Amino acid sequence: MKKRLSLFLCIAGIFSLILTGCGENNPNHENEVQTPLSVISNDDNEADETTAAFSDLPNDDENKQTAPANIELPESSTFSVHFIDVGQADAALVECDGHYMLIDGGNREDSDIIYTVLKNAGVTKLDIVAGTHGDEDHIGGIPGAFSYAAADLTLCSVTDYDSKAFQSFHKYANEKGGGITVPSAGEQYALGSAAVTVLGVNGGSNANDTSIVLKIQYGETSFLFTGDAEEEAEKAILRSGADLSATVLKVGHHGSRTSTGYQFLREIMPAYAVISVGKGNSYGHPADDTLSRLRDADVTIYRTDLHGDIVFTSDGKTVAVTTDKSQPTPAPTPQSTSKPASEPTQQPASEPASQPTPEPTPQPEPTPQPQPEPAIEPAPEPAPQPVQAPLPSSGGACWKSATGKKYHSINNCGNMNPNKATQITVEQAISMGLEACSKCW
Ligand SMILES: [Zn+2]
Ligand SMILES: [Zn+2]
Repeated sequence: MKKRLSLFLCIAGIFSLILTGCGENNPNHENEVQTPLSVISNDDNEADETTAAFSDLPNDDENKQTAPANIELPESSTFSVHFIDVGQADAALVECDGHYMLIDGGNREDSDIIYTVLKNAGVTKLDIVAGTHGDEDHIGGIPGAFSYAAADLTLCSVTDYDSKAFQSFHKYANEKGGGITVPSAGEQYALGSAAVTVLGVNGGSNANDTSIVLKIQYGETSFLFTGDAEEEAEKAILRSGADLSATVLKVGHHGSRTSTGYQFLREIMPAYAVISVGKGNSYGHPADDTLSRLRDADVTIYRTDLHGDIVFTSDGKTVAVTTDKSQPTPAPTPQSTSKPASEPTQQPASEPASQPTPEPTPQPEPTPQPQPEPAIEPAPEPAPQPVQAPLPSSGGACWKSATGKKYHSINNCGNMNPNKATQITVEQAISMGLEACSKCW
């Protein structure tokens, strides 16, 4: 709870959720950056006055982070969350009243997808960009966002991470996103009429457990984003007593067995879960255990590998969902009957003001081969390359699949998706712990 008092003082005068210039405050802030967002402190000891900003909130539990559940939404208010299909990775664009927040941006090769989503929605300014943690499948494609839009605030659980992808993210964050800020649990940010609350960060020692876990409250509906948080981080949040309840859960770590524990799930009690996962990924995500825990909890599951892009809209009382593809499998996903705030009304894709024109970001075949450096201005429109790209004769290069544990001499070895393969040096491959493929190397 470092410097919370100064944060609090800065905020205390701001009783409306108007965006104002409230600079400084985070000791981890690398650059000198204005944070033109209302940051709403909700520190346990200091929260009372600030949460009054959300006026008639029943503050029934001192330990629970409060959110503006009863706030009166403006008539023209809009809210949507677009889970972008980036394969075995995470990315979501949240919109509220014309304000935007990007939560993760997929792998480096997804830069152009992120770029295109923002471009199609005409989003040249993001209020917040959050890279939940340093892993490439979360921050790798964020440079694509910064190639089209600037951000007022860029959050990440770390400011340093030993990877090219992170270096690139860091560079773009410095140039277009005010540098990287490491938030503290309990901090809140306004996104239009919605409130974004950091429930946990750096809840464990491995990279996944550093994930920023945040909840976005819009009226009576709420969305929980867990990054790749696993058991250790989930337990830390449970211990903190944070209010985890949410209408929609972005399932942790692509549905791995080590995330979404019973107790964690019981506190969330979501009506819907979204699993961002690549088709046929080598990790076996999502795990059967996790799926069965979700089904046991009577949660309706949406998956990017089955449904493509998934868009939730909310009117503050109920959520509706539209997907790119209709559900192709007979997998039983029982509807929740016990959660009144969430009747799943399947809606046409043209819900007017409430979604940032979720272009389905079709993957043209062949998809442009991602360049080693992510998209820079102008628009990344890389020329399509042949599916089997030969290995350059310059020594030491190899192909890494999006998800595999081996490096290859060709980009379509076995079940590899050539469009998702990345070229790296053998040295990098080895340092990443990859092994030479016995079939092609
Ligand atoms: Zn991940
Ligand atoms: Zn991760």
